Amino acid sequence: MKKICLVLALVLFLPFVLIGCGNEEKLNTYFIIANFNDEEKSLKCNEKVTYVNNSENALEEVCFFVYANGFDEGVKAVPTSYINRAYPNGESFGNLTFESVFVAGQEVEINLTESKNILTVDLLNTLYPNEVIEIDLNFTVNLANINHRLGYGNKACNFGNFFPIACVYENGFVKNEFSPNGDPFYSDVSNFKVEINCDKDYVVASTGDKIESIDGQNKKVECIADKVRDFCFVLSKDFEVISGKAGDVDVFYYFYDDENSKQHLDIAVKSVNKFIKDFGSYPYKQLSVVKTNFCFGGMEYPNLVMISDDLADNETENYVIVHEIAHQWWYGIVGNNEFQNAWVDEGLTEFSTALFFKEFTEYGFDFDVVMDNATESYKHFVKIYSSIYESLDESMNRNLNEFATEPEYVNCTYTKGMLLFESLRQTLGEKKLLNCLKEYYKDYAFKNSSSEKLIESFSKTARINLESYIESWTNGTVVIK
Ligand SMILES: [Zn+2]
Repeated sequence: MKKICLVLALVLFLPFVLIGCGNEEKLNTYFIIANFNDEEKSLKCNEKVTYVNNSENALEEVCFFVYANGFDEGVKAVPTSYINRAYPNGESFGNLTFESVFVAGQEVEINLTESKNILTVDLLNTLYPNEVIEIDLNFTVNLANINHRLGYGNKACNFGNFFPIACVYENGFVKNEFSPNGDPFYSDVSNFKVEINCDKDYVVASTGDKIESIDGQNKKVECIADKVRDFCFVLSKDFEVISGKAGDVDVFYYFYDDENSKQHLDIAVKSVNKFIKDFGSYPYKQLSVVKTNFCFGGMEYPNLVMISDDLADNETENYVIVHEIAHQWWYGIVGNNEFQNAWVDEGLTEFSTALFFKEFTEYGFDFDVVMDNATESYKHFVKIYSSIYESLDESMNRNLNEFATEPEYVNCTYTKGMLLFESLRQTLGEKKLLNCLKEYYKDYAFKNSSSEKLIESFSKTARINLESYIESWTNGTVVIK
């Protein structure tokens, strides 16, 4: 995500086909049928998950994140400073209610944590390594009237994180809680087939490749998305769409009000080309850039990025488009636990954005000025917050809910993260750093990285042990001058 307070048909109907052979891990498969009720602004879903036990342990249960309950009454969905921007018609709430859960055809208890954030599904029988089980979830998502990842605004309905998604297994299931700060998400690359039914007047932007058909008043959109870590779609009756090509990749720009639409499509195409050249391939057929009702700067999903329709100026819009597209590489293809190590994707994404503007100088961002401003901004943050609080925690590897304030989160992940990579650029040289990024991409494409894994990969490529160097940044001891 980008906060605007910053510097600125083989598989068509085979839901259970598992990609991969030989030693490659089998992927979880999601087959979702989602029916949108326009009047109630609700989405009734059936989700069939073919879950693969890729761990070395026998499992008795599988856990799912239920992010949609982050919008429930009593939960803080956005930081306080975003409330006016978030709610176009006053405070509003939404949630996800389960109707039933089945395991291999047998109904089981709906077991939610008190926060309703984590669903634990009892497998009834032990699932041994490499075994597969089918879990069937029936639920309804009630949208809040909120300009957020999940919710409806005055022009569009956003469906980010609308369905329960399996928690990543790392010596136990990783159970992150919803947080109003940052992007509290973490999931494994999986295969998706999603069928969306909605009013025929809606234009649908989505993850994956889609086939649309109309029957009477109903539009059916069938989406196939292989090897992605999430699925998202956006609906609007007012969308216009223009498209371009970045090599073989179709780049779409969805908007309802944009006098600079061609420029925004153009910068999106340039971003895809730049990041393919610098980091590695974009292994999908399409990318949709969607300008929508959204209270933060933008938000990344595989094959789809949301750009706020409420940004200050065109310059900011250009910046946010590049930032969100860079996330296709850092978060999308190379994953990380965004709840625990947010700087890994946000810092790298900010640095990638700066690299883009270093090459494309016509947008008015001078690379050195961006870095100088970030340094000054960080020093200012340290000075102000040190005077307010007795001690200031400058560490980077913290859970999202361990950052005391939103500025602390933004400065320690985005700003300091970007400065860390700039420091590496200056120390190693740009060529070597780009080699580190290319190798890191190769090492972790379609996998999950972490702070430690990034250090290990960079050290291997740079042929120098970078552990203490990078950790002096992440543990908060480095002094930024
Ligand atoms: Zn971001």
